[in-house]
Amino acid sequence: MTVLYNHNGELTIGNTNLKTLAQSFGTPTIVYDEMYIRQQMRRYHDAFQKTGIAYVLSYASKAFTCIQMVKLAAEENFDLDVVSIGELYTALEAGYDASRIHFHGNNKTKEEIQYALNSGIGYFVVDALDEIALIDQYASNAVDVLLRVNPGVEAHTHEFIQTGQEKSKFGLSIKYGLADQAVQQIKESQHLNLKGIHFHIGSQIEETTAMKETAKMVLKWLKESALEIELLNIGGGFSVRYIEGDHAFNIEKGIPEIVENIKSTCHDLNYPLPMISIEPGRSIVAEAGVTLYEVGSIKEIPNVNKYVSVDGGMSDHIRTALYDAKYQVKLVNRDEIADETVTISGKLCESGDILIHEAQLPKSVKRGDYLAILSTGAYHYSMASNYNQIQKPAVYFVKNGKAREVIKRQSLRQLIINDVK
Ligand SMILES: *Cc1c(COP(=O)(O)O)cnc(C)c1O
Repeated sequence: MTVLYNHNGELTIGNTNLKTLAQSFGTPTIVYDEMYIRQQMRRYHDAFQKTGIAYVLSYASKAFTCIQMVKLAAEENFDLDVVSIGELYTALEAGYDASRIHFHGNNKTKEEIQYALNSGIGYFVVDALDEIALIDQYASNAVDVLLRVNPGVEAHTHEFIQTGQEKSKFGLSIKYGLADQAVQQIKESQHLNLKGIHFHIGSQIEETTAMKETAKMVLKWLKESALEIELLNIGGGFSVRYIEGDHAFNIEKGIPEIVENIKSTCHDLNYPLPMISIEPGRSIVAEAGVTLYEVGSIKEIPNVNKYVSVDGGMSDHIRTALYDAKYQVKLVNRDEIADETVTISGKLCESGDILIHEAQLPKSVKRGDYLAILSTGAYHYSMASNYNQIQKPAVYFVKNGKAREVIKRQSLRQLIINDVK
């Protein structure tokens, strides 16, 4: 994390004063340290380059997407994953090379498939048997696909963000024969070319065991099926630090471990080494971002709790309510000892509208102070809603002490733009 107090006791991100930003741009506002994002992307490139293997890096744009973010990913030589026509449209509007875009999702609509085919995307990640026929029907030329398998592996992470178990809605089960059926159908199709296999076993994965074991299992299945592939995509889900005590995935150590393991498995199985792809989202952007709020009313229930309310809430910060996710907060405009435990609540009409249940803040916190919630760069803006007709926040990138707007704050007018008068 790159959030620090300066010598005046004011909080900074990427050497930019957050109080000044809050005053100039209003709140809630999400601020990203652009260099942090770029550095994360470069760390993955460096780690893969050192292994000498053929690889492709892809950014899971669902974590945070907008035109400037997509442009940045292109500049850092990342491919792009999209999961909807809207994410694809955003990427194309940013001028992204369509052939480097991959379309995921367990229920791609006809419109999405047609739009993606017309745009000339790189490949689909097929996630259902009936999707194979649908893509075949709409394609007029050869189209590359990866097959998303469900390996039946559980990563040690929160159950809501586990996606690799047998009962998951994602992927086609190897154990229950759905993956074999899919391979057969793809072979029999007119236009689909099975370029590779994909799995994604969950999020907030700290260590490499689950990925290594899954890759081994999948490679064994490929060998037994006498199926050779060009690309093995092992998904994303590398962990980040939300609070002190969390461990960020160690890219420099973990990537070579996974790659070496895949290499030796292929060697042992006498199976041709495929190109390897990963698709991180969270670990690129989460720790790069903070959300700035202004403190409003403070309610102290004697001997029970102190609520510090901010001018946003579950409309821009849903992960606490959704997953019981944990966050850290810092007072922006003063560096004082955080000597009190409080609950940081939003302004929305839900009791569950809590941003942090047990937050540490200085006792002196008062109306008009600014707070920064850390590690809010992933799945915050992209999960934002207009519940209570709350406007979505503005987003800025800071670099070399300068801030540039990348998403404007939603206007009141935009809240009713589709309403029929
Ligand atoms: C969500 C997702 C990712 C990215 O996960 P992170 O935890 O953000 O890295 C990658 N691949 C697939 C298929 C996903 O669903």
